[in-house]
Amino acid sequence: MSRKPIIAGNWKMNNNKAEAKELVDGIMYGISQLDGSKMPEVVIAPSYTALWQAYDLIKNEPKIALAAQNVNPNPSGAYTGEVSINMLQDFKVKYVIIGHSERRQMFGETDEFINKKAKAILANSMLPIICCGETLEQREAGVTDSHLASQITKALQGLTSAEVEKSVIAYEPIWAIGTGKSCDSTEANRTIGEIRKVVANLYSQDTADKIRILYGGSVKPSTIVEQMAQSEIDGGLIGGASLKAESFVDLIKGAM
Ligand code: PEP
Repeated sequence: MSRKPIIAGNWKMNNNKAEAKELVDGIMYGISQLDGSKMPEVVIAPSYTALWQAYDLIKNEPKIALAAQNVNPNPSGAYTGEVSINMLQDFKVKYVIIGHSERRQMFGETDEFINKKAKAILANSMLPIICCGETLEQREAGVTDSHLASQITKALQGLTSAEVEKSVIAYEPIWAIGTGKSCDSTEANRTIGEIRKVVANLYSQDTADKIRILYGGSVKPSTIVEQMAQSEIDGGLIGGASLKAESFVDLIKGAM
């Protein structure tokens, strides 16, 4: 089963207007040197305030897709500080990252709210990148697989197989995010295989074979080749190493 790999940069709360321009320009220059036919799908997730500019810079560059780092699932109304799906559509946003551990832990987002976002995103022709991951305590207690199964089952609740097939999951062990300590590639591969089994049990083997599941957590140019060599890993969701054009382009090269 061949699944198109994805290299997605999650900028988090980084990059003002000038910094965002420099980064997008650098990525565009870097990928102009690469063989487009071999490239993974490249996705960048700027902050809301940089979305307009990123959209404007890449609008004639089909090799880069935009993602948002969050969305509110309600169509409009009294939600101070929130951004709707309709607003993201102005910028041709293709993907929305949901369920990131930072939003779960710092902003109290629940599995139910994440599921509501997934439904709203898919109902409006965008695609969710659904993050899941265990804490160090959960890993040490041996409950990683059951925790991930629970997160994924709840996030996908009520979605059709056609919706799930085009969605993306990102397995991001929380202890590996921003720590410089990536999960061992074979263990990440095993865990992602377990997530795929959850999807197969909920839907079908065919659906599980189609959904792309990324690894995230301290992915670097020095780790990407080994990670991409794993049969279950369909790409990376990358924070820190996506903030410099050179290293992001190296990650893209590592996925070719
Ligand atoms: C992330 O937050 O999605 C992430 C994987 O960050 P980092 O690559 O910096 O660990």
